[in-house]
Amino acid sequence: MRQSQLFTKTVKDVSKEEVSKNAELLIRAGYVYKEMAGVYAYLPLGFRVLEKIKQIVREEMNAIGGQEIIMTAIQRKELWEKTNRWDDEMVDVWFKSQLKNGTDIGFGWSHEEPITEMMKQYLNSYKDLPVYVYQFQTKLRNELRAKSGIMRGREFVMKDMYSYTTDAEKHQEFYDSVIEAYLRIFSRVGLGDDTFVTFASGGAFTEFSHEFQTITEAGEDVIYINREKNIAINEEVMNEKTFAELGVTRDELQEVKTAEVGNIFNFGTVKCEQLGLNFTNESGESIPVHLGSYGIGITRLMGVIVERFSDEQGLVWPEAVAPYQVHLVSLCKETADIEKTDEVYTALTSAGIGVLYDDRADIRPGEKFADSDLIGIPYRVVVSPRTLEQQSVEVKKRTEKEATIVSLEEFRKKPQSFVCS
Ligand code: ATP
Ligand code: MG
Repeated sequence: MRQSQLFTKTVKDVSKEEVSKNAELLIRAGYVYKEMAGVYAYLPLGFRVLEKIKQIVREEMNAIGGQEIIMTAIQRKELWEKTNRWDDEMVDVWFKSQLKNGTDIGFGWSHEEPITEMMKQYLNSYKDLPVYVYQFQTKLRNELRAKSGIMRGREFVMKDMYSYTTDAEKHQEFYDSVIEAYLRIFSRVGLGDDTFVTFASGGAFTEFSHEFQTITEAGEDVIYINREKNIAINEEVMNEKTFAELGVTRDELQEVKTAEVGNIFNFGTVKCEQLGLNFTNESGESIPVHLGSYGIGITRLMGVIVERFSDEQGLVWPEAVAPYQVHLVSLCKETADIEKTDEVYTALTSAGIGVLYDDRADIRPGEKFADSDLIGIPYRVVVSPRTLEQQSVEVKKRTEKEATIVSLEEFRKKPQSFVCS
């Protein structure tokens, strides 16, 4: 991508209203556009990061047997009435509207009800089970406060997976495989050391549900952790009973601020009983299906990554989710030099490396470097009249201060050996 063609531009300041670090940096660097509080659009760079995160999640969901779908945002009231979740007293984040004929509809803040209703059409016998489906979808929630930038949206992207199994044992097996898949996801995006499987309240027939909490000052949650024992407990279940069950004492636990990046939940047979999703088992009896529900906040995860890795100069993307791998910065003005830089660009892209090419004319070097730091691409490669004089390019990691000089010829021959970890 040539930066001269990119319609977004970096900006020095954002409106004082924007109080969160993640949104401030993402807006300044041109990744997102703020429509209103809690409502953000994703621009070319931001879109690429989201797609990178989604792809990692997709690979892990497919690996445990997930089938990808997209449900609708418009939902039927009667389904949610059956489970007592239509009432605003029960669910306080509903956005609702009406069709022209007066029929009430809701905008999807979650999808257990419609997916379970849909499954009645496809799941009849034990032979049809298990089924694991997931989607990436824009959820709409009328959140009371939206002060955490993209970490708490009124419109945000969630990956939600739903498991339909024949019994508690099969449910548990899958549930455990989701925990493993989630841990792989969080470590692949760079948050492995700071993300904890956290005991929380809730779950039908189970004492706990599990949240995935990542340590960050920008988080809205507080949990209690013990790193050695790898135990984390949510505030709601901080009591003697939990301590006894997990084999810890209160003073072995440290209080930390976190953001919930994922949540997994066992509904047992409750939801399928309410909605009438039954199957015929091997003995010919009709019994309700077990349901599990597994969320990851995709846009929240992006916000947490920003909070965790950014520095004074701007964003710092882990390679796995960076919009591009290399920021090629040209300081050249002469045609012959520009041609040489173009050749470096071609060498990189031919090697399958994603490149943002700062080919903008009339921008001072200082400004280009500041933009490059703000945008936060993992590797910066500078080509200037000075480096070309020495038949070289300058390679610097975003996380390091010092650049290395690499021979132009060697770089062009095998760029991947200089710009990939
Ligand atoms: P929270 O307590 O933060 O409001 P929640 O319990 O309402 O979260 P779930 O309904 O379990 O969240 O949603 C699944 C995941 O979606 C959460 O773990 C979180 O990562 C993400 N998420 C929830 N609400 C939002 C939001 N308003 N903006 C962005 N991500 C969200
Ligand atoms: Mg919530």
